[in-house]
Amino acid sequence: MAGVTSSPPGATETDLGRKRRARRIGRVLTETHPDAHCELNHSNALELAVATILSAQCTDKKVNEVTPKLFARYPTAADYAGADRGELEEMIRPTGFYRNKTDSLIKLGQALVERYDGQVPGKLADLVTLPGIGRKTANVILGNAFDVPGITVDTHFQRLVHRWRLTTETDPVKIEHAIGALYEKRDWTMLSHRVIFHGRRVCHARKPACGACTLARLCPSYGTGPTDPALAAKLLKGPRARDLAVAAGIDPALVPAQAVAAEVP
Ligand code: SF4
Repeated sequence: MAGVTSSPPGATETDLGRKRRARRIGRVLTETHPDAHCELNHSNALELAVATILSAQCTDKKVNEVTPKLFARYPTAADYAGADRGELEEMIRPTGFYRNKTDSLIKLGQALVERYDGQVPGKLADLVTLPGIGRKTANVILGNAFDVPGITVDTHFQRLVHRWRLTTETDPVKIEHAIGALYEKRDWTMLSHRVIFHGRRVCHARKPACGACTLARLCPSYGTGPTDPALAAKLLKGPRARDLAVAAGIDPALVPAQAVAAEVP
């Protein structure tokens, strides 16, 4: 979507104006990423907690390669609590930092068995007391395993809400509250997925695809990356890259095969 000429959105904005723009961004993201979801494969709260611990400094894709065997070998919290350290380390080694992560998984299993009858609790205050589970992970678990609305402030989420100038806060908890105030609570979980999807496929840290972005007219940072559609189209990533181009009003033929095949970070 090239040709954004008027003064940048957000330049002299009231709180109400910002809220309206935030809601518009949310609506555009809903249309742009109809496939948005939690990208860590799981079928229950324990599996999601384990996958989230493994996802630190690792791609979701790599975690998803490791977890089928892991979940089959360790189906319960008690299985992690009593795991053979060497065996567990070997299974999760491809995700990196495997010694620390093994430690977290064994301690998580022990804490769940000792304090929660082996079940993952469904409250933020309980979740954050568990080994390896910080507030971000707790919100992922609440939103995706318990249907409790939660905002997941990861690196993508932080970068994008700053680019959109929806908040100037830098502390993740303050960002969570500031963004939470702009949207309906019931939308928090899906909003988080959509923002993170956009960060992984379009609004990259180094070279955002501004010229192929559905948010160009709503984004004060339009121009941070190339605005030429031909250049921007090459920066889109993932199997829906051509759909993303169409949604942004540019020719999908500009999106090369490598972009469609590119691994989403
Ligand atoms: S890609 Fe560019 S226009 Fe789109 S959200 Fe990111 S900075 Fe804004």
